[in-house]
Amino acid sequence: MNTKNSRLTDRRRFLSLVGGSVSLLTVAGVAGCSGDKDAPAAAAPEPEATPAAEPQPSAQAEPAPQPAAEPAPEPTAQAPAGDLVELSEQDTQATALGYVHDAANVDTARYPQFQPGQACVNCVLYQGGADDAWAGCSIFIGKKVNAKGWCSAYAPKAG
Ligand code: SF4
Repeated sequence: MNTKNSRLTDRRRFLSLVGGSVSLLTVAGVAGCSGDKDAPAAAAPEPEATPAAEPQPSAQAEPAPQPAAEPAPEPTAQAPAGDLVELSEQDTQATALGYVHDAANVDTARYPQFQPGQACVNCVLYQGGADDAWAGCSIFIGKKVNAKGWCSAYAPKAG
């Protein structure tokens, strides 16, 4: 018996042992493994469909840099009064806040909150002492205000 006939005999013996439950695909697979070039080749399993490439979160998708918040100017960071310029009543910020050099000239119709006795010298934002005729103010950076002045940002000193 030659080698080819021996293999066929082995295959028939195998098939008789496992009965008819062997699927056609398995038989084809056995035939394919036997080296029998005449046997039909087993159908190659279909390659599993690869899922479409999903967009990956990109490491490059970083949030846009936020502009650094400008720190509010320190209200007490004022130059000495001698280096400050006298605030003009016509200054844009001064007119917006109703600043006057003399509290006697406050427009009480426009600023009904004004009370007699209020003046820069007793405002918490005034940076001078009781004897200073002019001094810095936390509102008007780089300027000095009159001790007798007033503006609508007035806040009384405690005590
Ligand atoms: Fe005067 Fe106070 Fe107004 Fe400054 S904030 S101008 S110290 S009243």
